[in-house]
Amino acid sequence: MRFRTPDYYGDFRCIADQCQDNCCIGWEIDIDEDTAAYYRNVGGDFGERLRRNISDGCFTLGEDERCPFLNSRNLCDIYTTLGEAHLCQICTDHPRYYEWFGDIKEGGVGLCCEAAARLILSRDMAIVESDITEDPTDPPDLTVFERLSYDRNVLLQFIAENDLPEAVQLLLDYAEKRQALIDMDNWDTADLYHEEIPVNAPQPEEILSFLCTLEPMSPDWIPRLERIKEVLPTVGDIPKEDYPELRRIAGYFLFRYYLKAVDDLDVLSRVKLTAVCTWVVSMLWRCRRAETGKCSFEDKVLDAKSLSKEIEYNEENLDALLDASYELECMSTAQLKGLFKKI
Ligand code: SF4
Repeated sequence: MRFRTPDYYGDFRCIADQCQDNCCIGWEIDIDEDTAAYYRNVGGDFGERLRRNISDGCFTLGEDERCPFLNSRNLCDIYTTLGEAHLCQICTDHPRYYEWFGDIKEGGVGLCCEAAARLILSRDMAIVESDITEDPTDPPDLTVFERLSYDRNVLLQFIAENDLPEAVQLLLDYAEKRQALIDMDNWDTADLYHEEIPVNAPQPEEILSFLCTLEPMSPDWIPRLERIKEVLPTVGDIPKEDYPELRRIAGYFLFRYYLKAVDDLDVLSRVKLTAVCTWVVSMLWRCRRAETGKCSFEDKVLDAKSLSKEIEYNEENLDALLDASYELECMSTAQLKGLFKKI
């Protein structure tokens, strides 16, 4: 089986007790059946402790929503007592994500982890492949898969070869036209490069208001969105110095989400997700500068991680945003292009 990842995938290392927002706090952790069966048979005091702290297939979160096995030094007692091999699947994988497409597996590291976010923001993405020993899954429609893979390469190329505002506008143009063709069962590429979709005046406050209706994962998220609304009239264009990291974030979203369209043929909402998330991160950075006069690389990493946690790592929020990208005028292709138009 071929395994395809961004080239930084293999460089990821969890920073454990150095992490500012440990993934063992505030998340419900489902225990997969194989691991649950193993935990049921662990003996001694630790086995008792395991069984006391599991209910309904999850670890029972303690005070401050901490995993009951996260000790006072923010290290995992299951890891130190039973070894890495006996972590449940989610804890083994996180923040890595995977998708299976027959004899191709894709993977990466998620932006919701600050150590992963540091990698994603600091390196241009090159996609690499290797052979792994794993049984193939049921194949997708291979013709559709190849066409979408072709598209994704084109879109990643747009990001690699253009400044951020032009790149995002090209992505949106391509996806809008591609979606219209897919809806007519037409996969020609020739028509995709003709006329551009017009640019309309954006309504960024409407996008922010929509985001405020989603379930917040952290108590400071909605107040931050409200502060962005306040500074909106004064922040101006995305500064050029932010282009490299924002392009990497756009590349991350495209790589991770575009091929999911192999199941539902919905490419447009995935590209709009890319545009909206990239724009929100840019606003978090611009708002930070407006308030404090600076935005360091570490600030950028933590803000990108916050956006990811709020949108990507809450399935309902992610679905709501994908749906809204069709339903709300503020997320029409023309208005999203307007968000990235230089004044
Ligand atoms: S969020 Fe990332 S760096 Fe932090 S504890 Fe989890 S995996 Fe490790």
